[in-house]
Amino acid sequence: MYFSVFLKDKLMACVVQKFGGTSVADPNRIKNVATKVKKEYDRGNQVVVVVSAMSGVTNQLVQYCKDIDENYNLQEYDTVVSTGEQVTIGLLAMALQSIGVPSRSFTGWQIPLLTDQAASKARIHTIETEKLRECLDNGIVPVVAGFQGIDENGRITTLGRGGSDTSAVAVAAALKADRCDIYTDVDGVYTTDPRLVKNARRLDQVTYEEMLEMASLGAKVLQTRSVELAMKYQVNLRVLSSFEENPIGTIICDEESIVEKEVISGITYSRDESKITLVAVKDEPGISACVFDLLAEANICVDMIIQTESVNRKSTDITFTVPESDLNGALSVLAKHKEEIGYTDIISDSNCVKVSLIGVGMRTHTGIARKMFRALSDKGINVQTISTSEIKISVLIADEYAELAVRALHAAFELDVKQV
Ligand code: ADP
Ligand code: ASP
Ligand code: MG
Repeated sequence: MYFSVFLKDKLMACVVQKFGGTSVADPNRIKNVATKVKKEYDRGNQVVVVVSAMSGVTNQLVQYCKDIDENYNLQEYDTVVSTGEQVTIGLLAMALQSIGVPSRSFTGWQIPLLTDQAASKARIHTIETEKLRECLDNGIVPVVAGFQGIDENGRITTLGRGGSDTSAVAVAAALKADRCDIYTDVDGVYTTDPRLVKNARRLDQVTYEEMLEMASLGAKVLQTRSVELAMKYQVNLRVLSSFEENPIGTIICDEESIVEKEVISGITYSRDESKITLVAVKDEPGISACVFDLLAEANICVDMIIQTESVNRKSTDITFTVPESDLNGALSVLAKHKEEIGYTDIISDSNCVKVSLIGVGMRTHTGIARKMFRALSDKGINVQTISTSEIKISVLIADEYAELAVRALHAAFELDVKQV
């Protein structure tokens, strides 16, 4: 008895496997996923599967909501868009059973996965593990619906687009799983979106910090919140292809675990940016606080900010960016408080894109910004706004230059070849 418990603890790993929309796009692909799960199960591991809706389904459901009412109720939106995942959990559980793997499906509220009440972008509070553990202890593979949970009032919630990644990492953290494998339609995390740059290179490893920046700055391969959770709970995270037999993928881990660190790991772009300039606001203490208080109260995230130096010491211009979906909200809040802020004019532009260069090597290498600006200027690209952190430089440029800028930077930093 003692020996078998010891053996079980020693040999059996707990693995969370997450499959995204393209991996479960039709019944045949769902059957393919089932064989991948079986392979892991047959190794003697405990396997929990998290799935997304079939590709395109969530978009279709969002469109239905808009067709009913452009200003739809967010709680009902969550009720509608969460249904996509309910279909795939049932189908995958069936596919597993049909090849001899005991399995059952779980919606978010059956587990339950408890979230706050922020409809359409809820955050996970807790995950009950009792039912999942009971399945695992009995050799049953739980198939969990990603993207969804339930709030304390019993309302269905969703975690924001791409949220199944976050469900998977959260389940892995709650179960203290040995691994969380994110299966998708690319074979790992690349130096930039491989659909845009043909010679983008797959990274063997990338740090949590870099991945966090990459995800939040536009690389949609992982939802930002999933990386935050993985970093916080030290989840062993991997991104790999669901279409390959023996995928290698990319490991996302601590900086200390990477021996050969790259100077620059990636380039991202995000079109979800709008720029607002408040012209001639009073140059006195409290004005910026007032502007950004008002925007925060309206739940609007402000990203890049620049304030030009006042020439006459009386007035100055403040420029900042907000997500495109928040542009109208921001403009109406600012218009309402025009007197209080005291600007003369307000200019907005949603024809812009944020391009970012990311790498932990920026902490120790000099000349990165210079090389970046030179590469952009060589292509005649005008930089409108700049923001930096310890490991990233972002620039705002005109929308039509997005692809040119990403390709130019990829070439300038020779990211197609490993640099250490
Ligand atoms: P899933 O449906 O499996 O969740 P997503 O479409 O959300 O997959 O994410 C995978 C996509 O992310 C890829 O098809 C790729 O085009 C895109 N992507 C953007 N940036 C990167 C990057 N740096 N590395 C890999 N993929 C990226
Ligand atoms: N189905 C949801 C979406 O399309 C969640 C996900 O795929 O991660 O956003
Ligand atoms: Mg995704």
